[in-house]
Amino acid sequence: MTPRSTVDVTAPNGGHSLTDHLAQLIRADGPLTVAQYMTAALTHPIYGYYRVQNPVGRAGDFITAPEISQIFGELIGLWCLQTWRDIGAPSSFQLVELGPGRGSLMADLLRAARLQPSFLAAAEIHFVETNAVLRAQQNAALPEGTDATWRDRFEEIAPGPLILIANEFFDCLPIRQFMRKGPGWYERCVTLDEKGALCFALSPSPIPGGILAISDPHTQQGALKEVCAPAQSLIEKIAHRFSQHKGRALIIDYGYAKPGMGDTLQALRRHSPCGVLETPGDVDLTAHVDFSALASCAKRSGADVAGPAEQGAFLAALGLEARASALRAEATAQQKQDIDSAVLRLAGPDQMGELFKALSISSADLPPPPGF
Ligand code: SAH
Repeated sequence: MTPRSTVDVTAPNGGHSLTDHLAQLIRADGPLTVAQYMTAALTHPIYGYYRVQNPVGRAGDFITAPEISQIFGELIGLWCLQTWRDIGAPSSFQLVELGPGRGSLMADLLRAARLQPSFLAAAEIHFVETNAVLRAQQNAALPEGTDATWRDRFEEIAPGPLILIANEFFDCLPIRQFMRKGPGWYERCVTLDEKGALCFALSPSPIPGGILAISDPHTQQGALKEVCAPAQSLIEKIAHRFSQHKGRALIIDYGYAKPGMGDTLQALRRHSPCGVLETPGDVDLTAHVDFSALASCAKRSGADVAGPAEQGAFLAALGLEARASALRAEATAQQKQDIDSAVLRLAGPDQMGELFKALSISSADLPPPPGF
């Protein structure tokens, strides 16, 4: 049982669902790595979750911070304004958002940025988005008269000073999983059980040393390590860009701050957890972000790093309470309650306040970023 090196995502071969299609592939070519499974489930051109679904919001499968309150995007707008000043207030720069969902974050950010018209005049807005339905929503959410360009990949963005934001984007990037067994590490794969249903199994032989930089010989048996190669390669590209042009990125997501072990692969349907292998293509599939891996990668590539900071502390430092008070001053009783519950949801330690983290990556020698 050797995991395939690539997955043919262009030929559904007459299967009626992604499960059928993946079963055919496994029968023909052997098990898939978890990363190959996740890639197909999320971005298969015909069945992929982020190609065909409209996932974000109350009617979707999950609600994100920008959908909870306008304050989130407004505070990030202030973060962008300060960042723009920190990189020398260039008269033209790329303002890039990775995975913009319904476009609410950018809309709120741009509204807050009206405080500084020269920022708005200098910003060339780019959305990196693969989902056509969401692209249309992002376009509709933009303030009237605002131009934007849509890209499939970060690499397509032209050179120049850069401010980049990404909320709940990195958790969608495919991870590989490795399990400790005896003296070695084995890759967790997706294969078929005796009834032909998708199931997990381990690779028959250990992975070659070097894929995992874990030197501790005493790692517990059964420990599971996750590695997100696409996230690391994207961070390297962003950091490389910051070595050539001034810029700064803000990455917000759920994840862990210190290197850790454990299976964080999860599936959500209509706001409730469901089986990861149940209905690929129909459910949101994500993994927690390993912020320490992203931070080390950025530092190795010559960029400066701040954080990760917990989202609650980060938003508080940007002025969450002051903005909430200003909104409360003009609100009805019901709206005041909504503002209070949104603040609690975004920053409460048992809600998004601690699990979600913010990480900033900058060109070397800029002033410290706001919020950290
Ligand atoms: N940032 C938004 C949405 C998060 S959901 C918010 O906070 O509400 C993830 C987003 O990333 C969606 O817009 C999804 O379509 C997009 N996405 C997922 N995988 C992608 C990929 N590989 N390339 C580009 N966009 C992707």
